Order: sequence, then structure tokens, then C-alpha cells
Amino acid sequence: MKVLIINSGSSSLKFQLLDFAANVVMMQGLCERIGIDNSRIQFQRFDEERIRHNRDFVDHEDAVKAMVEVLTSPQYGVIEDLNEIKAIGHRVVHGGEQFAEPVIVSEEVKASIREAFLWGPLHNPANLLGIEVCERLMAGIPQVAVFDTAFHQTMPREAYLYALPYNLYEEHGIRRYGFHGTSHKYVSERAADICGIPLEQSRIIVCHLGNGSSLCAVKNGKSVDTTMGLTPLAGLPMGTRCGDVDPAIPAFIAGVEDCSLQEIDNMMNKRSGVLGISGISSDFRDLAAAAEKGHARAKLALDVFRYSLKKYIGAYAAVLGGVDILVFTAGIGENDDDLRRQLCDELGYLGIELDEYHNCGLRGEEKIISTKKSKVKVVVVPTNEELSIAQQTVSLLGFKDE
Ligand code: AMP
Repeated sequence: MKVLIINSGSSSLKFQLLDFAANVVMMQGLCERIGIDNSRIQFQRFDEERIRHNRDFVDHEDAVKAMVEVLTSPQYGVIEDLNEIKAIGHRVVHGGEQFAEPVIVSEEVKASIREAFLWGPLHNPANLLGIEVCERLMAGIPQVAVFDTAFHQTMPREAYLYALPYNLYEEHGIRRYGFHGTSHKYVSERAADICGIPLEQSRIIVCHLGNGSSLCAVKNGKSVDTTMGLTPLAGLPMGTRCGDVDPAIPAFIAGVEDCSLQEIDNMMNKRSGVLGISGISSDFRDLAAAAEKGHARAKLALDVFRYSLKKYIGAYAAVLGGVDILVFTAGIGENDDDLRRQLCDELGYLGIELDEYHNCGLRGEEKIISTKKSKVKVVVVPTNEELSIAQQTVSLLGFKDE
């Protein structure tokens, strides 16, 4: 069965066509710079080389048309007819309190995604646009929306409520929602499976560490707390995002730097995090290389990141009443063996013991990296949000694996 996964952003559209039963990516691609000059499409058939074509995309409709052409092209295509696609799964960032599960797209669902523009102003409009264009150009194929926030809807009230006047929650939905839910769900399920621990009786901490980073405490397969909040700015310091800061700081900066709230918001999202501290890069590889050569602030940025991570892992161990599995995923989590080593050394008090041999040189593999004696299993699981969206889409539509 062929399932198409769409991740529509404000100026980009990522797609992946999966042969679901065989778990094979038939084609993946990206339409970039939609509505901007020098727009282009790049795509890759199976494991073949990536191909790039310059092409004008005035809007998302142009981009979806280009994707359809490539998917069905006699030269590069992987299908002959769009009817071969049995379902389309869309990533939608914010589902508010409305969506705790994936849903089949309908007029009501689209209206609810529109209502959630308030909380996801950068992402939800683009996500909805992707859905609407696909409805027009690929009518008749069932479409499913899978929300980044959905997995966290199981958080208890004490974990999601901010200590603000209650009417702000009631009238404006100001609360913790959390993000990366598709990844946290997929990775926690895989980790329990790899460790042979029943998901329904497990305490798992997932560290999704990439350009955006978040932790999730997963109890018996359900999210009970997560570090991101109303927006993806909260929690750990990230590549360019500040993570948790004293909430009085924006007002303070507005006074001393004479700038608007919008400028401060931009600074906290784009010029903070490890980039802000180091002053050189948001990329952890650059920071590690610079720290190695003695760049003091690059080292400081890495130390601040690791410290925050350690603090949250401790907090989530308390939330869960102990930890069975600690999982690392995403660009940094999957690849940075130094970070994993240092962190696990510092977490020795939890009974964590890393297997140095298995910790090193991992590339895109699932692996248990703790020793047999370790009281907590430490695991690396490459995240696969597209596969998870496809799984949830197929399951919701009740299709059999074929
Ligand atoms: P993601 O958002 O999941 O694609 O992760 C991107 C981040 O992963 C980048 O900021 C890189 O700093 C980081 N990354 C990728 N490879 C490595 C590596 N080998 N060591 C450390 N960080 C890495």
C-alpha cells in the first residue's frame, strides 16, 4: 500500500511516498522557496542520487503540482497513476486541546486547525494550505491530519497548567501543549520494543535533541510531561531558541535595549540558544570542533545545554518515580556520542552504566548502549516521523498492511 506523507511549511513542502507494507521510501523530496525567487524541487528515488530542478513556485499549489509531476513522471516517477496512493497523511503542528488522536480531514477538522492558528501562527496556516491544495489536486484520496501536540494530550492538569490567572487558560487556551509528539510516541514505542519491556508498564524518558529539542516523560506509553510549552520556545536551550528563561526577562530587555516585544520574540527564537551563548554557531558539530580548539564560549554553550538536559532528566525521573529506559533521538541525540557519554557519567547515581563500545560510531541504527548491569536501559532510536504519520494514517483508516 502506498501512502503519501506531506509536511507543508510556510515556504517549503516536504513529501515522502512510502510503500507501507514493505517499509520502503519510494520517493522523498522537498519543494523550497515557495513564493520566493530561486525556488526549486529536489527529490530522491529509493536510495538513488538526489536530483534538483529549478522551478518557479508562486504558491503551494505550484509545489504540489510539481510533486505530482515528479511522482508520476515517465523519467523519474515511482507510480503511474495517483490512484495508486491509498492515503495522504499530513503533519499538523498544533491541534490545541481538540485533537488527542489523528483524524480524517473534514470541513470541521479544517475549521479546528484554523482555530489553532492562534497558538501555531507560523506553522498551522501552512499545514492547512497543504491539506487544501492536496484536496483540490488529489480529490478522492483520503487525507488524515496527524498533530505534533496530540501525544501530549494525556498530560495531567498539574503538568500542563501554568500558574497564571485561570481565565487565561479558559478564555485563550494558554497552557502547556508540547511538541515533537509524533517523534516521542514513535521513539518510546520502539525503545520499549527493543528493550523487551511492555510499553504499558514502562517509565521512559525520551530526549529528542535536534535543532529543536524537547524531553518527554512517558509513563505506560502515555506522555505525562514534556519540556516545550504553549510554543516550541520553552524547555531546553536549543540551536537558536532560548528555552526556559525568567518570564520577567522580555519586559526587562524591552526597557534596557529599547526594542519591541516582537523583536525580543525574534531574538529568543532565532538568535539565542547555543548560538546566542557561543556567538559562533547553532550546529553542535561546529561547537564541538571549536570547543576542542579551546573556544571558551563554545564549550560553555555545550555545558549549558548538557546541564539543562541533566536537570530535566532528574526532574522526569521524579515525575515517573524512576526510569526504566532513557532514549536518545534526532540529530544530536543519535549522533553525538560524547554528549551521551558525559551525560550518562553524570547520571550514574540513577544506576546508569554506559557500554562505551556500543555508544561509539552509531549511524542511523537502533541500539541499546547501556551495559547488561545498568539499572536503566539507555537506547538510541533514530526518529522517523514520516513512518509514524504513515502508521497512524493507515491505522486510522483501518487499512490492512498490504
Ligand atoms: P535535526 O534537527 O534532528 O536534523 O538535528 C540537527 C542537529 O543535529 C544539528 O544542529 C547538528 O548540530 C546535530 N548533529 C548532526 N550530526 C551530529 C554529530 N555527529 N554530532 C553532534 N551533533 C550532530
